[in-house]
Amino acid sequence: MSVRLAFPTTLLEMQRMFPDENAAAAYLRAVRFPDGLVCRFCGWKDEPHIFENRPTVLRCRKCRRDTSITADTVMHATRTPLQVWFWAAYLVTTQTSGESALQFQRQLGVSRYETAFQILHKLRAAMVRPDRDRIGGKWPVEMDEAFVGGKTRGEGRGVHHKAIVAGAVEVRTKTKKGGKRALYAGRLRLRIVRDRSAKALEAFVVESVEPHSRIITDGWVGYDGLTVQGYDHAPVVLGGDPEEAEKALPMVHLVFSNLKAWILGTHHGVSQQHLPAYLNEFVFRFNRRF
Ligand SMILES: [Zn+2]
Repeated sequence: MSVRLAFPTTLLEMQRMFPDENAAAAYLRAVRFPDGLVCRFCGWKDEPHIFENRPTVLRCRKCRRDTSITADTVMHATRTPLQVWFWAAYLVTTQTSGESALQFQRQLGVSRYETAFQILHKLRAAMVRPDRDRIGGKWPVEMDEAFVGGKTRGEGRGVHHKAIVAGAVEVRTKTKKGGKRALYAGRLRLRIVRDRSAKALEAFVVESVEPHSRIITDGWVGYDGLTVQGYDHAPVVLGGDPEEAEKALPMVHLVFSNLKAWILGTHHGVSQQHLPAYLNEFVFRFNRRF
């Protein structure tokens, strides 16, 4: 039997469910060991011994060896209390604009900035894992690339610290009251690509979009091979006019402008090294709207 315990969604629920470290540990035990311990050392199965002052440790009653309830999780081998991790998870998933490491450090009274940063970074990386299926299928997909991130302060206006991010977003339709059809953005995928070559862009498409999906792009040669790759490719030829591009690919342009605003507004720019984690968080939030 496996138990799926709900994680709190409001501040009051958080406070009620996790008043102290023991309550947080009890929750984690119930989620991860709903049927008691299966000892990894001797194979013994039953309710383990739990120490009152070490709630994250399960002791096998047969071989007397210990199993940590944080083993194989992002929380493992950190000295940060479980409560701080849980609050971090709560803040990362509920704050509409996302959580910066500095805000987080202040809110939870984490003494070192680096600790706060590492916690958020690990949570962001863990957040996207369940979400790796390909998009498209019955919905057409808009695709484009943009320069994102990079702190260029004091170094001129160059794009040398920015990464090229490829984006693919579903264009869905719904019928409103009165029979009018409205377009809205469906699921999103983003990934940093090495360059704008066909090789790099096609690798992203194959990983992110279901075969045979309709893909709308601008007229860039990097997309010329999508038909050969098995997609229903619909290039929109643009005369280099940014306004025309907005009209032809409205969803993906909206995504990129939101992404840039979010990175600047919440995180004040991010370095190339950490950009993948922020892209993951953005995609996670975007797709969670459903
Ligand atoms: Zn044992």
